[in-house]
Amino acid sequence: MTLADLGWNESFAQAFAPFAAEGCAPARVTLELKGYREVTGENGARLGECSGRFIHSAKAPADYPAIGDWVAITPQPGDDARVAIQAVLPRRTRFSRRAAGAEVLEQVVAANIDTVFLVSSLDGNHHLHRLERYLASAWASGAEPVAILNKADLSDDDLDSMRAAIADVAPQLPVFVVSARTRRGLKALGPYLQPGRTIAFLGSSGVGKSTLINRLMSARIQPTQEVRETDNKGRHTTTQRELLVTPGGTIIIDTPGMREIQPWAAAADLAAAFADVAAIAARCKFNDCQHTVEPGCAVHAALEAGELDPLRWESYVRLRRATAHEIRRVDRPAQQQHRSQMKKLTKDLRRRIGEKHGDE
Ligand code: GDP
Ligand code: ZN
Repeated sequence: MTLADLGWNESFAQAFAPFAAEGCAPARVTLELKGYREVTGENGARLGECSGRFIHSAKAPADYPAIGDWVAITPQPGDDARVAIQAVLPRRTRFSRRAAGAEVLEQVVAANIDTVFLVSSLDGNHHLHRLERYLASAWASGAEPVAILNKADLSDDDLDSMRAAIADVAPQLPVFVVSARTRRGLKALGPYLQPGRTIAFLGSSGVGKSTLINRLMSARIQPTQEVRETDNKGRHTTTQRELLVTPGGTIIIDTPGMREIQPWAAAADLAAAFADVAAIAARCKFNDCQHTVEPGCAVHAALEAGELDPLRWESYVRLRRATAHEIRRVDRPAQQQHRSQMKKLTKDLRRRIGEKHGDE
């Protein structure tokens, strides 16, 4: 496998020049497991360990190499199977989640993904609000989002309403209707599946991501893309490869972490996805305007003047609510704050009712 097969290109080569001057070789992180990474370069796959110098200079979890990252490696003297990771090249795109721990820190789940397919299914079991959240993640990552409506063989009753709903949220988002089962519509994805391009799939469980990936791989299925690892109890466990190259040359990143991804930077996601709405909201009289009953609310003025599409405003509010909920779910301090706020509200309410009762 050449570096180009793994997605190497001119811009990575340029960023790599100073490391080449130091005698490093480039490699891509092709698998990430507890405690170690597999990196693949021109000489094949090696066990990559972050060098002492690297660990010393790393300031945050996000500085560590993630699947899809390009890294600068040096050989480990006397050990052909291992290499030392000296640096991570600047990421073209990155999907992140919150790192485990009390502090809110970013952890990179996957890097350098060019296109992300947001998969929904047409079997009446669609989750448009989830699509919105995945879309926000994609926008925040920098990868190009593409919507896939799968299972078109089952029914296309919902097709028009799905298309309209998607167009509401993201008028520019390309939408493809496919059936992974019958292969209908898959050819149209060709432009996104060029050799050396890195893609990933996001979507709820059951929408057909694995089936789609199998389809892309199936021209010549690689029978054993598996890695053996010894778990803590000394047993061997088998792990699926996380970075696959299709017979057509497309690179697929498929990790549990990507599949379960939730928006990380809710505020940043929203700002990017709804720049037009944000610009209007910035004109509100009060900085902390909730756009409900405040005087001087620019959002209300824009809605009344027909400058802001009410549907677009609704999507924004919905997405804001979804991300706020998601953040509370993963963010303990925010959760606690929410709980104490709710407690206070309940208390206030009780008091008011109590007063009312008292008055009567
Ligand atoms: P994932 O959880 O997103 O990876 O979904 P899977 O690929 O495991 O698919 C979930 C179920 O949907 C499986 O039973 C698949 O056979 C089925 N499925 C996937 N794609 C299609 C499709 O295009 N049409 C139909 N009818 N079923 C599909
Ligand atoms: Zn307002």
